[in-house]
This record gives sequence, structure tokens and C-alpha cells, in this order.
Amino acid sequence: MELVQEADYRFRIDPHGAMRVPGVVFASRALLPDAEKSLEQVANVATLPGIVGASYAMPDIHWGYGFPIGGVAATDVDEGGVVSPGGVGFDISCGVRLLAADTDRHSFRSALSAVMDGLDRAIPRGAGPGGVWHLTGPGQLERILRGGSRYAVEEGHGEERDLRRCEDGGAVADADVGEVSVRARQRGLGQVGSLGSANHFLEVQYVDEVHDERAAAAFGLALGQVCVMIHCGSRGLGHQICTDHVKAMDRAMSRYDITVPDRQLACTPVDSPEGRAYLGAMAAAANYGRANRQLLSDAARGVFRGAAGARLSLVYDVSHNLAKIETHTVAGARRTLCVHRKGATRAFPPGHPDLPDDLREAGQPVLIPGTMGTASYVLTGVPGGDAFHSTCHGAGRLLSRHQAARTVTGRDLRARLESEGIAVRPRSLRGLAEETPEAYKDVGEVVAASEGAGLCRRVARLVPLGVVKG
Ligand code: 5GP
Ligand code: MN
Ligand code: MN
Repeated sequence: MELVQEADYRFRIDPHGAMRVPGVVFASRALLPDAEKSLEQVANVATLPGIVGASYAMPDIHWGYGFPIGGVAATDVDEGGVVSPGGVGFDISCGVRLLAADTDRHSFRSALSAVMDGLDRAIPRGAGPGGVWHLTGPGQLERILRGGSRYAVEEGHGEERDLRRCEDGGAVADADVGEVSVRARQRGLGQVGSLGSANHFLEVQYVDEVHDERAAAAFGLALGQVCVMIHCGSRGLGHQICTDHVKAMDRAMSRYDITVPDRQLACTPVDSPEGRAYLGAMAAAANYGRANRQLLSDAARGVFRGAAGARLSLVYDVSHNLAKIETHTVAGARRTLCVHRKGATRAFPPGHPDLPDDLREAGQPVLIPGTMGTASYVLTGVPGGDAFHSTCHGAGRLLSRHQAARTVTGRDLRARLESEGIAVRPRSLRGLAEETPEAYKDVGEVVAASEGAGLCRRVARLVPLGVVKG
């Protein structure tokens, strides 16, 4: 793929073939070779009907289903723009939540091992069923699908303040539970309040660098402070919804005269029965994902209270796999866009009207997991942020799970991490090996490139003390 360098951290793929807009890749020269395999996907996304601006790729880009992971694409709803389930991904509303403890790492040190043992027992994980919440019946699942974190808090699993620190106040509007198949519901019933498999985790961390004191203070973070980061999504329910709607759109596409270079880009206009059905089901899955993170926070709070006498306050909860209808000014005109972010995080700048009052001056917290052996970051949005106010979502995979597991055994990896002072509570040793830090790009470099490209600003760096792995 031919790339034209436009700025230090910005490269362009000129339109060719059926591309309607250019591709724009935010990366450093050093990160580019790792992105090669997925650049074709950036070009493919640029062919989608109604796409606006460019097909964007974040510095953590890697290969995904149809769309690359680390991709952002917006389509104009009023001009026949499409929505594509592949632009959201299988783990709908997968995202990250960060909680800050009222203790620092020195006071916390003696409690770490008891906290990790408590979390090991309290956090359901792995590929199969099992969750902290045993549903009383299908009616309760519907309330989760409509109410997300808000419903979990109403049921006593959290504080009202939590909701102000959640994207969308903890629940996406317009969930259409009628578009969630029986199979998806069945898969969702037994997994409410669970992490899932090994890229998902609950990590105890501490703040080891503060890059922006004012923003950190507004977020509730200080040097040395202990934190909990939770990464999980909508489990089997979200996966099934994606599968169902890709199939439906694949069948319907020809009726709208849409052709795509890759069947995995199956899509229909946002304003079509299939488009609306997907968005309604997607919103339901997003609420399931948010309730999931709320319930796991509640479980973690119980453990911290009991084993460390510490309180956890929510910093923020934001998803990195979602399509949203948003209004943006493009070339001077206000337009209604369907913004797909897949492995990309929304990053509202300071002053954005959708931010809660106590975050308005600092901007939106953006939560970037790195690896269990290195670091993670807290960022914030910046004025004029490109790619419809989006930035990276993680370090980004470099090696496949299979390749990663060939480089190290789970046993050796656990011993190495423990020797570095990181307590490890894996569900499976094989899953742990697949997640070896070497399987990911350098998160410091990814974050530096994102900042250099003008997508976000660094606020704090977090390092791990212990990890509960799916
Ligand atoms: P994804 O949503 O694409 O599965 O993962 C998002 C990011 O999470 C990955 O790109 C990776 O950087 C990060 N990640 C995966 N496992 C861990 C972990 O155990 N700890 C931390 N801190 N980050 C992780
Ligand atoms: Mn996920
Ligand atoms: Mn994720």
C-alpha cells in the first residue's frame, strides 16, 4: 500500500479503485511496518456508501473482521450513509473502566495479596457461562438491555455518582430489545457480570507518572494512587447480535445496490429497516456491556472494602467498539453522522457539552490499556481532535494468540511477572501466554504517536501491581 506522509504522525492513502475518500493513518514511522497487513482494510472501508472525510486508522491498528481494529469511519445518515456491524466488531461496546482507590501504593502494599486472592474468587471469567448476577428471569435481562449501568445502580450495585462518570450516563438510548434474537438472549442470560476471555482483565495499578496535573486532579488521580482498570464487553450476547445482523445485511445489501470489496463489510443504509434493526440491537448489547462493567466494579469494591478497607471511585467508563449517531461540522456544515469506532476511543475535548460539569474543563478521560507487564495510560481529548474526536484504544496486537503462545509458556510468564512484582491470577495458563506483553505493540509509542498526531493529550501513566486475567 502506497503511503504519502502528510505530517510527522499522519500518512495518506490516495483514493484508488472504488475508494470514495482517502485513507488516513495516524502512526509513527516505527509503528508503520506493524500496520502493513491491515492497510488494505483501511482502503476497503473507504469504499463504503456515504463515508465522510476519510477512512481513519489509529496508531494501534491491526487486522480485524472486515474493518481494521483501530479504525474510525463516519457516514452521512442523510446521504444514504451505511452502518456496518463489522465497523463495531463482535464485542459490542467492549470498553474500559477506571476506578481510583483512596489509598496509595505504599499504604496498600501489605493488602495486595489478600486483595488479589479476593478478586480471584469474586471475578467470574473464562469463555463459558458464569457471572456475578444470577438473573431472576428474562424480564430482568430486558431491563439490563434497556438500562445498562443505570439499571445495575438502581438495583443497588453502585452509586448515583457512577452514572455521571459513564459515557452516555451509563445507558445508550434507543435499545430495541425486539431485535435481539432468542439465541443472543440465551447466550446473555448466564454471563451478566463476567470478564470473558484473556484479552479482558481486571488489573490493580498505581499512577507512576502524571503528565497533566490539572486534568489528573479533575479525574481524581494523583501520583502513587492505587487504581483498578476493568476491560470487558458484551460477551456472547454481543457476539451473537453481530453474527445475526451481519447475516441479515449480507442478504439485504443487493436490494440497496451496495457492493463491497469484502463480504465482511456487509452494510445497509443507516436509514433502512436492517440498519435501524442493527442499531437497536447494538444499543441493547452496549447496555449489557455497561451493566457488566458496573457489576464487576461492585464486586471489586466489595473486595477492596473487605481486604484493604479502601473505597473505589469511578474515574470514567468508555467503550471502544461502538457506532454512534453524532453531529459534526464538516467543511463548515453541520451533518448527522454514524461514527463507527472499532478499537478506537471517543475523546471529547474540554468544553464539550456532553461532558459532566466536573469534567468539562479538563476534557473526557480516555482509558488506554497497554499490557499486564508494562503500562497503561489515561489521556484526554483535545480541541479540534481529528477523526471525529477519536483516538487509540490500546497498544494493539502484534502477534496472533497462536504466535504469542509459542513464544512463552504460561508458567514461565507467570513466574517472570511475579518476579517483577506483578501478582498474577490467571484463569488459564494458555490464555495467559497468549497475552504475553510481547504480543502487543509498545503502548508508550502508540500513545506518543496519538498525541503527536493531535488526537489526544497524556494525563497519567499507570503501571500494574496485579492482574486478574480472563
Ligand atoms: P482489545 O479490546 O483490542 O481486545 O484490547 C484492547 C487493548 O487492551 C489491547 O490492545 C492491549 O493493549 C490491552 N491489554 C490486553 N490485555 C491486557 C492486560 O492484561 N493488561 C493491560 N493493562 N492491558 C491489556
Ligand atoms: Mn472485548
Ligand atoms: Mn476491548
